[in-house]
Amino acid sequence: MDGLCKNCSANISGTYCQNCGEKVVAPEDFYISRYISSFVSGLTNVDTKFYRTLGAFVKRPGQLSRDYFAGLRKPYLSPIQTFLIVTVVFFVFAPDFDIFYIPAKWFFAGLTADSPYLANHLAMEKMTALDLSRAELALKYDVTVRNHSKAFLFLGIPFLALGSYLSRPKTVPQIGKHLIFATHNLSFFTLWFFILLFIAFKVPQDLTPDWFMRILSFGGCYVYFALANRRTWNDSWPRAWFAGFLQMSALFVFIYVYRSGISFATLQGL
Ligand SMILES: [Zn+2]
Repeated sequence: MDGLCKNCSANISGTYCQNCGEKVVAPEDFYISRYISSFVSGLTNVDTKFYRTLGAFVKRPGQLSRDYFAGLRKPYLSPIQTFLIVTVVFFVFAPDFDIFYIPAKWFFAGLTADSPYLANHLAMEKMTALDLSRAELALKYDVTVRNHSKAFLFLGIPFLALGSYLSRPKTVPQIGKHLIFATHNLSFFTLWFFILLFIAFKVPQDLTPDWFMRILSFGGCYVYFALANRRTWNDSWPRAWFAGFLQMSALFVFIYVYRSGISFATLQGL
Protein backbone atom coordinates (compact mmCIF):
# COMPACT_ATOMS: atom_id res chain seq x y z
CA MET A 1 0.00 0.00 0.00
CA ASP A 2 2.27 2.77 -1.25
CA GLY A 3 1.55 6.49 -1.38
CA LEU A 4 2.00 9.70 0.52
CA CYS A 5 1.40 10.05 4.25
CA LYS A 6 -1.78 12.06 4.94
CA ASN A 7 -0.14 13.65 7.94
CA CYS A 8 3.40 14.57 6.86
CA SER A 9 3.44 13.81 3.09
CA ALA A 10 6.41 11.45 3.33
CA ASN A 11 6.47 8.40 1.03
CA ILE A 12 4.91 5.37 2.69
CA SER A 13 5.42 1.70 2.06
CA GLY A 14 3.60 -0.55 4.51
CA THR A 15 0.94 0.06 7.14
CA TYR A 16 2.60 2.90 9.07
CA CYS A 17 4.48 6.07 8.06
CA GLN A 18 8.15 5.64 8.88
CA ASN A 19 8.50 9.37 9.29
CA CYS A 20 5.69 10.27 11.72
CA GLY A 21 4.00 6.97 12.66
CA GLU A 22 0.61 7.78 11.08
CA LYS A 23 -1.38 4.69 10.09
CA VAL A 24 -2.55 4.08 6.54
CA VAL A 25 -6.34 3.72 6.51
CA ALA A 26 -7.71 0.31 5.52
CA PRO A 27 -11.36 -0.85 5.17
CA GLU A 28 -10.93 -3.25 8.13
CA ASP A 29 -10.31 -0.22 10.38
CA PHE A 30 -14.03 0.47 10.31
CA TYR A 31 -15.30 -2.99 11.23
CA ILE A 32 -17.25 -3.11 14.47
CA SER A 33 -14.86 -5.75 15.83
CA ARG A 34 -11.89 -3.42 15.23
CA TYR A 35 -13.65 -0.58 17.02
CA ILE A 36 -14.40 -2.73 20.05
CA SER A 37 -10.92 -4.20 20.26
CA SER A 38 -9.26 -0.78 19.96
CA PHE A 39 -11.61 0.54 22.62
CA VAL A 40 -10.56 -2.25 25.00
CA SER A 41 -6.86 -2.03 24.19
CA GLY A 42 -7.00 1.77 24.47
CA LEU A 43 -8.31 1.46 27.99
CA THR A 44 -5.91 -1.25 29.09
CA ASN A 45 -2.92 0.47 27.46
CA VAL A 46 -3.43 3.71 29.33
CA ASP A 47 -3.89 1.63 32.42
CA THR A 48 -0.68 -0.36 31.98
CA LYS A 49 1.33 2.74 31.08
CA PHE A 50 -0.02 4.62 34.05
CA TYR A 51 0.73 1.90 36.59
CA ARG A 52 4.15 1.18 35.09
CA THR A 53 5.03 4.89 35.28
CA LEU A 54 3.71 5.23 38.81
CA GLY A 55 5.59 2.09 39.91
CA ALA A 56 8.93 3.24 38.48
CA PHE A 57 8.32 6.77 39.72
CA VAL A 58 7.72 5.78 43.34
CA LYS A 59 9.83 2.65 43.75
CA ARG A 60 12.84 3.49 41.57
CA PRO A 61 13.76 7.18 41.88
CA GLY A 62 15.48 8.43 38.73
CA GLN A 63 14.46 5.44 36.58
CA LEU A 64 12.04 7.46 34.42
CA SER A 65 14.64 10.12 33.54
CA ARG A 66 17.32 7.50 33.00
CA ASP A 67 15.13 5.49 30.60
CA TYR A 68 13.98 8.65 28.86
CA PHE A 69 17.57 9.73 28.16
CA ALA A 70 18.48 6.23 27.00
CA GLY A 71 15.65 6.39 24.43
CA LEU A 72 13.20 4.07 26.22
CA ARG A 73 10.01 6.17 26.21
CA LYS A 74 7.11 4.07 24.89
CA PRO A 75 6.44 2.10 28.09
CA TYR A 76 5.83 5.23 30.18
CA LEU A 77 3.75 8.37 30.30
CA SER A 78 5.85 11.35 29.19
CA PRO A 79 7.43 13.60 31.86
CA ILE A 80 4.91 16.37 31.14
CA GLN A 81 1.95 13.94 31.30
CA THR A 82 3.26 12.64 34.62
CA PHE A 83 3.57 16.16 35.97
CA LEU A 84 0.11 17.19 34.74
CA ILE A 85 -1.59 14.17 36.30
CA VAL A 86 0.11 14.76 39.64
CA THR A 87 -0.73 18.48 39.59
CA VAL A 88 -4.37 17.86 38.68
CA VAL A 89 -4.70 15.37 41.54
CA PHE A 90 -3.06 17.89 43.85
CA PHE A 91 -5.27 20.69 42.54
CA VAL A 92 -8.51 18.78 42.99
CA PHE A 93 -7.93 16.75 46.14
CA ALA A 94 -5.21 18.37 48.24
CA PRO A 95 -6.39 19.98 51.45
CA ASP A 96 -5.45 23.61 51.96
CA PHE A 97 -1.97 24.26 53.15
CA ASP A 98 -0.27 27.61 53.21
CA ILE A 99 3.27 26.68 52.25
CA PHE A 100 2.73 27.89 48.67
CA TYR A 101 1.05 31.20 49.54
CA ILE A 102 0.73 33.72 52.37
CA PRO A 103 -2.75 33.53 53.93
CA ALA A 104 -4.57 36.83 54.28
CA LYS A 105 -4.30 36.74 58.08
CA TRP A 106 -0.49 36.98 57.87
CA PHE A 107 -0.37 38.92 54.62
CA PHE A 108 -2.56 41.99 55.16
CA ALA A 109 -5.72 41.20 57.18
CA GLY A 110 -4.00 41.91 60.52
CA LEU A 111 -2.44 45.20 59.42
CA THR A 112 -3.80 48.62 60.35
CA ALA A 113 -4.47 51.44 57.90
CA ASP A 114 -1.21 53.25 58.75
CA SER A 115 1.03 50.19 58.24
CA PRO A 116 3.92 51.00 55.89
CA TYR A 117 4.03 47.54 54.25
CA LEU A 118 3.56 47.21 50.52
CA ALA A 119 0.88 44.55 51.12
CA ASN A 120 -1.09 47.11 53.12
CA HIS A 121 -0.88 49.74 50.36
CA LEU A 122 -2.10 47.20 47.84
CA ALA A 123 -4.90 46.05 50.16
CA MET A 124 -6.07 49.63 50.78
CA GLU A 125 -6.14 50.31 47.04
CA LYS A 126 -8.21 47.18 46.43
CA MET A 127 -10.60 47.95 49.32
CA THR A 128 -11.35 51.31 47.72
CA ALA A 129 -11.49 50.01 44.15
CA LEU A 130 -13.76 47.05 44.98
CA ASP A 131 -15.65 48.76 47.81
CA LEU A 132 -14.87 45.99 50.30
CA SER A 133 -14.00 45.95 53.98
CA ARG A 134 -10.62 44.49 54.98
CA ALA A 135 -12.30 41.28 56.16
CA GLU A 136 -14.25 40.91 52.92
CA LEU A 137 -11.12 41.45 50.86
CA ALA A 138 -9.30 38.86 52.98
CA LEU A 139 -12.02 36.32 52.27
CA LYS A 140 -11.94 37.00 48.53
CA TYR A 141 -8.13 36.88 48.48
CA ASP A 142 -7.89 33.58 50.37
CA VAL A 143 -10.20 31.77 47.95
CA THR A 144 -8.33 33.03 44.88
CA VAL A 145 -4.79 32.59 46.16
CA ARG A 146 -5.44 28.96 47.10
CA ASN A 147 -6.20 28.10 43.48
CA HIS A 148 -3.41 30.26 42.05
CA SER A 149 -0.84 28.73 44.35
CA LYS A 150 -1.57 25.26 42.98
CA ALA A 151 -2.00 26.27 39.34
CA PHE A 152 1.43 27.80 38.80
CA LEU A 153 3.58 25.14 40.47
CA PHE A 154 5.14 24.29 37.10
CA LEU A 155 7.21 27.46 37.52
CA GLY A 156 9.34 25.37 39.88
CA ILE A 157 10.65 23.31 36.96
CA PRO A 158 13.22 25.90 35.74
CA PHE A 159 14.44 26.41 39.33
CA LEU A 160 14.99 22.69 39.87
CA ALA A 161 16.55 22.39 36.40
CA LEU A 162 19.00 25.14 37.30
CA GLY A 163 19.91 23.30 40.52
CA SER A 164 20.40 20.15 38.49
CA TYR A 165 22.48 21.93 35.84
CA LEU A 166 24.72 23.54 38.47
CA SER A 167 25.46 20.12 39.93
CA ARG A 168 27.01 18.92 36.61
CA PRO A 169 27.53 21.78 34.13
CA LYS A 170 30.48 20.07 32.42
CA THR A 171 29.35 16.45 32.13
CA VAL A 172 25.72 17.24 31.20
CA PRO A 173 25.60 20.61 29.45
CA GLN A 174 22.20 20.01 27.80
CA ILE A 175 19.56 22.11 29.63
CA GLY A 176 16.84 19.92 28.08
CA LYS A 177 18.01 16.92 30.12
CA HIS A 178 17.91 18.96 33.31
CA LEU A 179 14.41 20.17 32.49
CA ILE A 180 13.22 16.55 32.07
CA PHE A 181 14.93 15.51 35.29
CA ALA A 182 13.46 18.53 37.08
CA THR A 183 9.97 17.74 35.76
CA HIS A 184 10.14 14.26 37.27
CA ASN A 185 11.52 15.55 40.56
CA LEU A 186 8.97 18.33 40.91
CA SER A 187 6.26 15.76 40.17
CA PHE A 188 7.60 13.70 43.03
CA PHE A 189 7.76 16.69 45.34
CA THR A 190 4.12 17.53 44.56
CA LEU A 191 2.96 13.94 44.99
CA TRP A 192 4.91 13.53 48.23
CA PHE A 193 3.42 16.73 49.61
CA PHE A 194 -0.02 15.62 48.59
CA ILE A 195 0.35 12.26 50.37
CA LEU A 196 1.70 13.86 53.56
CA LEU A 197 -0.98 16.56 53.59
CA PHE A 198 -3.59 13.94 53.12
CA ILE A 199 -2.28 11.89 56.04
CA ALA A 200 -1.87 14.99 58.23
CA PHE A 201 -5.50 15.96 57.71
CA LYS A 202 -6.77 12.47 58.55
CA VAL A 203 -4.60 11.88 61.61
CA PRO A 204 -5.07 13.85 64.87
CA GLN A 205 -2.95 17.01 64.97
CA ASP A 206 -0.90 15.97 68.04
CA LEU A 207 0.42 12.91 66.18
CA THR A 208 1.57 15.04 63.24
CA PRO A 209 3.05 18.26 64.65
CA ASP A 210 4.13 20.87 62.09
CA TRP A 211 7.87 20.50 62.71
CA PHE A 212 7.60 16.73 62.21
CA MET A 213 5.70 17.11 58.93
CA ARG A 214 8.21 19.68 57.73
CA ILE A 215 11.15 17.35 58.37
CA LEU A 216 9.29 14.47 56.76
CA SER A 217 8.30 16.47 53.68
CA PHE A 218 11.64 18.12 52.93
CA GLY A 219 13.77 15.30 54.35
CA GLY A 220 11.91 12.71 52.31
CA CYS A 221 12.24 14.88 49.25
CA TYR A 222 15.98 15.28 49.77
CA VAL A 223 16.46 11.51 50.05
CA TYR A 224 14.42 11.01 46.88
CA PHE A 225 16.41 13.63 44.97
CA ALA A 226 19.71 12.04 46.02
CA LEU A 227 18.52 8.57 44.99
CA ALA A 228 17.24 9.98 41.69
CA ASN A 229 20.58 11.64 40.95
CA ARG A 230 22.40 8.43 41.70
CA ARG A 231 20.24 6.31 39.41
CA THR A 232 19.88 8.83 36.57
CA TRP A 233 23.48 9.96 36.28
CA ASN A 234 25.34 7.01 37.89
CA ASP A 235 26.61 9.27 40.68
CA SER A 236 28.76 8.13 43.58
CA TRP A 237 26.97 8.53 46.93
CA PRO A 238 28.74 11.75 47.97
CA ARG A 239 28.05 13.25 44.54
CA ALA A 240 24.40 12.19 44.64
CA TRP A 241 23.91 13.79 48.08
CA PHE A 242 25.66 16.94 46.94
CA ALA A 243 23.60 17.20 43.75
CA GLY A 244 20.43 16.54 45.78
CA PHE A 245 21.47 19.30 48.17
CA LEU A 246 21.86 21.81 45.31
CA GLN A 247 18.45 20.84 43.96
CA MET A 248 16.82 21.14 47.40
CA SER A 249 18.38 24.60 47.77
CA ALA A 250 16.94 25.59 44.40
CA LEU A 251 13.58 24.27 45.57
CA PHE A 252 13.74 26.36 48.76
CA VAL A 253 14.58 29.48 46.77
CA PHE A 254 11.68 28.69 44.47
CA ILE A 255 9.18 28.22 47.30
CA TYR A 256 10.33 31.42 48.96
CA VAL A 257 10.06 33.49 45.78
CA TYR A 258 6.87 31.75 44.68
CA ARG A 259 5.09 32.23 48.00
CA SER A 260 5.54 36.00 47.99
CA GLY A 261 5.19 36.31 44.22
CA ILE A 262 1.89 34.45 43.99
CA SER A 263 0.49 36.31 47.02
CA PHE A 264 1.34 39.77 45.66
CA ALA A 265 0.23 38.86 42.12
CA THR A 266 -3.09 37.55 43.43
CA LEU A 267 -3.81 40.60 45.59
CA GLN A 268 -2.82 42.87 42.72
CA GLY A 269 -5.09 40.96 40.32
CA LEU A 270 -8.25 40.92 42.50
ZN1 LIG B 1 3.94 10.72 8.11
